[in-house]
Amino acid sequence: MPELPEVETVRAYIDRCVSGQYIKNIEIFLPRLIKNATAEEFAAALTGQMIQSVRRRGKYLRVQCSGAVSLLVHLRMTGSLLYEEPCRDVPARRILFRLSKGCLTYRDIRTLGCLWLVPSQGKTGISGYDSLGPDGTSPEFTVPYLQAALKGSHRKIKAFLLDQTAVAGLGNIYVDEALFQAHIRPSRRCDRISRRDSERLHDAVVQVLRTGLENGGTTIRDFINGRGSAGHNQDFLCVYGREGKPCPVCGEPIKYVKLAGRGTRYCPHCQK
Ligand SMILES: [Zn+2]
Repeated sequence: MPELPEVETVRAYIDRCVSGQYIKNIEIFLPRLIKNATAEEFAAALTGQMIQSVRRRGKYLRVQCSGAVSLLVHLRMTGSLLYEEPCRDVPARRILFRLSKGCLTYRDIRTLGCLWLVPSQGKTGISGYDSLGPDGTSPEFTVPYLQAALKGSHRKIKAFLLDQTAVAGLGNIYVDEALFQAHIRPSRRCDRISRRDSERLHDAVVQVLRTGLENGGTTIRDFINGRGSAGHNQDFLCVYGREGKPCPVCGEPIKYVKLAGRGTRYCPHCQK
C-alpha cells in the first residue's frame, strides 16, 4: 500500500504537471470508486474547474480546484495518479480527466481506491481525513507530542503507529523500519516506552519517511509514481520483507510475527 513517501512522490510530480490546467471532461469507467456521488454528479461538479494545486495529508491526496468542490483521493492498495501529455492508453485506467494540455488518469489494478467530492475549504466531512493526526514529516509531529500520545496509550507500539489519528502517513513498511531504527520491539506497550526511547522513535519515524521520499518511494509490488516508474527504497529496507534473512546490524535472523493484524518483522536481538 502506498504510504506517505509514495503518496508524496506522486503528489509532487502530479502537482507540477496539472496545476493551472482546466478539467475539460471526465470519463468514468468504474463509478463505484466514487464514494459520495454518482458518476454524473462527479463529472458535473468538476468539469470546467481549474486545478489550483495537489496537496497531501497522510495518505490522502487532495486535488484543490477553483470552484466550491474539490477532489479527495485515497490510493489504498494499488491506486495511482498518472499524467500523460499527450494522452495515451493506460492499463487499469478507471477514471480519465482530460485537461487543457494533457490527461490525468486514476489507475487502479485491484480497484480498492476511493474518490470523494469534498468542499474546497474547511472540513471535508470524510471522517478518515478530518481525524488525521499530524503528518510524520510535519513540524507538528514533535517529541513532546509523541511522548504525550504514548503516555496515554496501553496499546502496542505497532498498532499505535499504524493509527492515522496518532501519526498520519505511516503504514506497515515504514512502521517496521522505524521501530528497527529505534531499537524498539513492535509488541512493546506505548506507556512502557522511556523518554529516551521515544526521542529515538520520533527521529526514526522522521528519518525513514525522509529516506523513503528521497528514494522515490518503495516498490514492493506495483507502486509507480506519477510518471509511471518504480521507486528505489525497497533496496534500503532493513527488516520489511526480510524475514529469515540476517539483521544488517547483528546478523541474527529477522523474525516474522502477526501484530495488530499485520505481518510484522523485527530483529529479536536489536529490538527490545
Ligand atoms: Zn539485529
